[in-house]
Amino acid sequence: MKSFGLPRFARRTLLAASALTLFALPGMMNPAMAAAPMVKTSAPGYFRMMLGDFEVTVLSDGTVDLPVDKLLTNTTPAKTLATLAANYLPVPVETSVNAYLINTGSKLVLIDTGAAGLFGPTLGKMLANLKASGYTPEQVDEIYITHFHGDHVGGLMAGEPRVFPNAVVRAEKHESDYWLSAENLEKAKGDERGGFLAAQTSLNAYVKAGKFKAFEGNVELVPGIKSVATLGHTPGHSNYVVESRGQKLMLIGDLIHVGAVQFADPSITISFDKDSKAASAERQKTFKDVAKGGYMIGAAHIQFPGIGHLRANGKGYQWLPVNHTELR
Ligand SMILES: [Zn+2]
Repeated sequence: MKSFGLPRFARRTLLAASALTLFALPGMMNPAMAAAPMVKTSAPGYFRMMLGDFEVTVLSDGTVDLPVDKLLTNTTPAKTLATLAANYLPVPVETSVNAYLINTGSKLVLIDTGAAGLFGPTLGKMLANLKASGYTPEQVDEIYITHFHGDHVGGLMAGEPRVFPNAVVRAEKHESDYWLSAENLEKAKGDERGGFLAAQTSLNAYVKAGKFKAFEGNVELVPGIKSVATLGHTPGHSNYVVESRGQKLMLIGDLIHVGAVQFADPSITISFDKDSKAASAERQKTFKDVAKGGYMIGAAHIQFPGIGHLRANGKGYQWLPVNHTELR
């Protein structure tokens, strides 16, 4: 066979087609010339990395707009606005809500759960992103909660059947004693009452099924994950330290809300703090140790995926976000 090109009829068709293209008016033949409607959706919100032998998947719950100039305390609105402007951030600040899924190889552990429907339509994407990331809620063995605010427990979802039917939910005892108390709910008023209701409705189904177990202080919960009490933001706020083969990631919940402001000046607090003095002290203690130890933190409200290192910089810290990685 001499000819190993296209058959003659195919060549002829191609020639005819290119002649047509030559004479066609722009936009008539080429669909790429049409005005494509904007898609206006984002990619599945998960980020995956290895930490030693553990697989870490950050799940985005979405974002929420926070008027942080009015929320930050131990500073002034004018100072906050100036710092935000210097960081090219408008107010309100579009703020991430992140949850963290750790596969230790023997246990699948979810740390915080996002807001579900408690904070409006821009949040509540954690479950869809968990599924998009290749897991099912039935596979989750344990759920550790940093604290019982709605944007951390909402994803447990009120009602039956439980969204995570096989999971045991765990949190520090001061936290559950405070938020799950019928007496505290009774006494609370206004927004505070809403907070108690959100916590209790999110947790109730797990408590009833015997699937909630409090712990006290600093304990190893599964091999490679331990709690560290950082009380202040709420009565039992806890960090979770994840460690494998010498690599360490500390998940710090709401120890920080506004990265652009509070990394540079960790003494700045937020009105969501129950005890802002204690919260500030825990933030500063944690940041100091993180910078000194050279390990990573993951924070619920730092821009997705919220994982990075800290470098000491004067009285504050510089945030060094994790490098993008694709697992291979
Ligand atoms: Zn929060």
